[in-house]
Amino acid sequence: MSWHILGAGSLGSLWAARLARAGVPVQLILRNPQRLQAYHQAGGLTLVEQDQARLYPVAAQTPDSTQPIQRLLLTCKAYDAEAAVAQLAPRLVPGAELILLQNGLGSQDRVALQVPQARCILASSTEGAFRERDFRVVFAGHGHTWLGDPLDLQPPAWLEDLHQAGIVHDWSLDILSRLWRKLALNCAINPLTVLHDCRNGGLRDHPAEIASLCAELGELLQRCGQGEAAHDLHEEVLRVIQATAANYSSMHQDVSQGRRTEITYLLGYACAAAQRHRLTLPHLQALHERLLAHLTARGLPSH
Ligand code: NAP
Repeated sequence: MSWHILGAGSLGSLWAARLARAGVPVQLILRNPQRLQAYHQAGGLTLVEQDQARLYPVAAQTPDSTQPIQRLLLTCKAYDAEAAVAQLAPRLVPGAELILLQNGLGSQDRVALQVPQARCILASSTEGAFRERDFRVVFAGHGHTWLGDPLDLQPPAWLEDLHQAGIVHDWSLDILSRLWRKLALNCAINPLTVLHDCRNGGLRDHPAEIASLCAELGELLQRCGQGEAAHDLHEEVLRVIQATAANYSSMHQDVSQGRRTEITYLLGYACAAAQRHRLTLPHLQALHERLLAHLTARGLPSH
């Protein structure tokens, strides 16, 4: 049974290379014939681990291939997920499974609406990878991946493939809580690192801003029925700031490199949820507006 992987970027390549070297059949799905040709010219995916580069000639195809898809790992950005799945929907067999690795919330629901016949498994990962250039990815930070399905708590049998591939993971019985918790951490840290143009550690100079955001995010989580995800949020935010003090957040990296951010699925999603629940969260709302203005001023999309 082949794994199809759409999104041969940082995370997709990291998964593809590890599955392929464990002997699991993998098919990459590349955007179009030009990208497929560039991929063949590169000879495959290169994964760099501890300064050692290794080439993995993983099989690849374009979305309009006719091969049926049983299992699809979606590793594109949140803003590309819905359209990417829509074009593959006709290829999904009955009972197909999608594994959604997008950060934040919102894109998973839109994907699920496109493919009501499929099981959607949600994932949250603390692994880190970045693209040195096309089809060459550096495994920058070991971490953990949680997978789960809010509609069906039964773990899929293919978790064994991940085990064999050395992809450290757990089946989560409350994946939504994990995704909300990660979203809240992201909302408390990433936008401020962009607005103050600093590393995560720079936020130690803004304790009052962090405290008010954490209080409002806690309120939001409670109102959304995610009380567990609110537990000790402020303490964890401070811990993450300390532990990652030397790092630039992913949003800071996106903005400084002129790339589109996933704001709609992070702070944007939080503000929309607050509005839906008629919750007034002035600090969170002001942060969202400042961030949108900041992106617009730099010519970056605000969605
Ligand atoms: P990335 O490096 O930008 O890779 C995304 C890939 O998706 C690109 O290769 C892009 O193709 C491809 N893509 C988009 N639309 C497509 C389509 N319609 N057909 C085929 N390919 C398509 O992104 P990433 O860093 O791996 O992040 C993916 C998701 O994982 C994000 O939500 C991110 O927040 C999350 N995440 C990432 C990390 C990490 O360390 N990187 C960690 C945790 C979570 P092109 O190359 O042709 O543009």
